[in-house]
Amino acid sequence: MLGIMQDWPLTVDKILEHANQQHGAREIITRRVEGNIVRTTYAELYTHAKQVSNALKDMNIGLGDRVATLGWNSERHMASWYGTMGIGAVLHTINPRLHPEQIAWIANHAEDKVLIFDKTFLPIVESIKGLLETVKTFVIYAGADTMPENSLGAIPFDIWIDGRSTECRWGDFPEETACGLCYTSGTTGDPKGVLYSHRSNVLHTLVTMSKDAMGMGCADVVLPVVPMFHANAWGLALSCPATGANMVMPGAQMDGASIYELLDTEKVTITAAVPTVWLMLLNYLEENNLKLPYLNRVIIGGSAIPEKILRAFEQDFEVDVVHAWGMTETSPLGTLGTLPPHLVDADVDTRMAQKMKQGRPPFGVELRIVDDAGNVLPRDGVTSGRLLVRGAAIAAGYFKGAGGDVLDADGFFDTGDVANLDQYGTMTITDRAKDVIKSGGEWISSIDIENIAVGHDKVANAAAIGVYHPKWDERPLLVIQPMPGETPTKEEILKSLEGKIAKWWTPDDVAFVDEIPLGATGKINKLALRKTFKDYKLP
Ligand code: ADP
Repeated sequence: MLGIMQDWPLTVDKILEHANQQHGAREIITRRVEGNIVRTTYAELYTHAKQVSNALKDMNIGLGDRVATLGWNSERHMASWYGTMGIGAVLHTINPRLHPEQIAWIANHAEDKVLIFDKTFLPIVESIKGLLETVKTFVIYAGADTMPENSLGAIPFDIWIDGRSTECRWGDFPEETACGLCYTSGTTGDPKGVLYSHRSNVLHTLVTMSKDAMGMGCADVVLPVVPMFHANAWGLALSCPATGANMVMPGAQMDGASIYELLDTEKVTITAAVPTVWLMLLNYLEENNLKLPYLNRVIIGGSAIPEKILRAFEQDFEVDVVHAWGMTETSPLGTLGTLPPHLVDADVDTRMAQKMKQGRPPFGVELRIVDDAGNVLPRDGVTSGRLLVRGAAIAAGYFKGAGGDVLDADGFFDTGDVANLDQYGTMTITDRAKDVIKSGGEWISSIDIENIAVGHDKVANAAAIGVYHPKWDERPLLVIQPMPGETPTKEEILKSLEGKIAKWWTPDDVAFVDEIPLGATGKINKLALRKTFKDYKLP
């Protein structure tokens, strides 16, 4: 027997319809690439998005066609999103930090027809225009007055949509229709496209709004520093209009001073970004003796959170830190570290130790850990295994079948992370499978070593990698990027690890570099480091 309820397809255009009707006066505040601040309402965004839809339809773009963006977080970027998704075309966000040739490869693989981009990226686009096989139209997020000269015949975004009809039928397609496309950075092999559906995006949005997830409401002011090209700004590009929260968009400026200015002048209550952003902000706050009176919650993810960032926010600034884990393939939120009931009133050290862990899955995400043979491992908080995930907003495969079949017999996706689960379902990542250091057949957690090392005052960044050892196969080498002007010694660094890790985990050597290489998503590029230290002779 079927239920007798309405058929209301879960399509993302309904999110902006809702924002327009219920929260039309709430604002998107954008720092433009020119530096000035622009204020737009959800009602205006709705109008602009409809005009984008009509501009696309005039170019014969429709169901299933791919429209690419290379854009910072901005209200124009939001308008192109909803305008594209509303008519069932697929919004393909490209990460501008990728190598230009990789950007061209991705655009060709996706068969993008239109490329809309910020003028910051004009040199990149001009450098690859000869490689782009399918892009026919270039649009730049600019007005007539701010349009740069270019060799692409590009159209200014404002002129492209100006004067067009604001009437356009949205959402006339099944909820399983493709909605967004986001390629993983491809540290191994070619990048692979994750193809979100309207349904998965709407369900992810409902999950992220809840109190134990991002926990936002209509009176919140949210600053997504995390870019819209990172899995929908961790879903915030959808969940903010869904709740009616104001959005504060940092554009191209993500340094400590610029982020602080927005947090303060816009009275931001919730913000989200990777740890490196917060390190810059905290340094700026300390140097200038500043406080964060309005901020309630900071969501930190993308890589493990260093303890000094956690403690600074929680103890010095009284800001609630939510440590989150996820990946492009999980839409991206997989776990969040709000405190479980039995630890809410625990002492500060216990609470901080809990918050260092990656957290618990919200409803809609199932986790398990397995050994190499696929056997499910116990949830004892100690046993580590490959982390598998299943749920309503988890990838079932990649665009155009790249990577083949990715689900196991039970429908779980292998995240490539190594983790443990405790009896309360709290997940702790110990490594990425490909970064694991295997010494004498036993795993050493590079993340644990790195977290402690970056806590040292003289250390700016740290990476632990496995290098060849004749007896143990691999042993850890700790690579350190010192703070500017500092010259820490090997002994000092190793001393800071003493008593905090198992003795046999202690790195065999410490190497100092000017700069630890970062990948396109701001994470340490271990592949590059392993290449650099391939023939390193341990003492
Ligand atoms: P890519 O896989 O291309 O690096 P993603 O942004 O999808 O890009 O990265 C997902 C990966 O980032 C996860 O599989 C995990 O290894 C790592 N990661 C994300 N959040 C955390 C976290 N809180 N702690 C540790 N690692 C994390």
